[in-house]
Amino acid sequence: MDRLQQVGSLLHILICGQEHDMNPENIGMEDRKCHYYAEEQLSSCWEEPDHQKWIVMAEDFVKSCGLENTEDGTGKAMILLEDVRDACKKIAFLALNCPLTVPYITAILGTVMKPSTAKKKLSTTTSASSSRPTTSSSGFFNPKEFLGD
Ligand SMILES: [Zn+2]
Repeated sequence: MDRLQQVGSLLHILICGQEHDMNPENIGMEDRKCHYYAEEQLSSCWEEPDHQKWIVMAEDFVKSCGLENTEDGTGKAMILLEDVRDACKKIAFLALNCPLTVPYITAILGTVMKPSTAKKKLSTTTSASSSRPTTSSSGFFNPKEFLGD
C-alpha cells in the first residue's frame, strides 16, 4: 500500500458510515452500500470503484492540508491523519467508559472546530519559533457557555 492508499484507507476507517456489503459479487452495484471490504478480497482492490472513491478523497485531503506540492506531502498528510485517528481512539475510549464526559468532549470539539480557535491552535503546532498566542477570554474553554447551568 502506498502513502496515498494509506491515507485513503485511514479516511475510510474514520469517515465511512455506510452499511458494508462483504460479498465480492456485489462490487459495483449502485445499492448505497459500501463495498470497500468486499473489494479488499481482490488483488485489484485499488482499481475498484469504492477504493477509487477513497483515493479521490485522499487526494483532496492532501490538498486540504496544503501539502499537495510539497516533498512527501502525502506522507505528512498521513501522519496528520494518524494523529487524528489516535485522538479519536482516545475520545471514543473516554466516551465509552465515562459517558458523562460526552458533553465535555462535545464542548471541547466545538471549541477546537471554531475557525478562530482552530487557526490559533494550528499556528502553535506549525511554527515552533512563534511565540504562544495571546489568550483572550473567548479562547478559553468555558463549560457553562456550552452546557448551560
Ligand atoms: Zn465503507
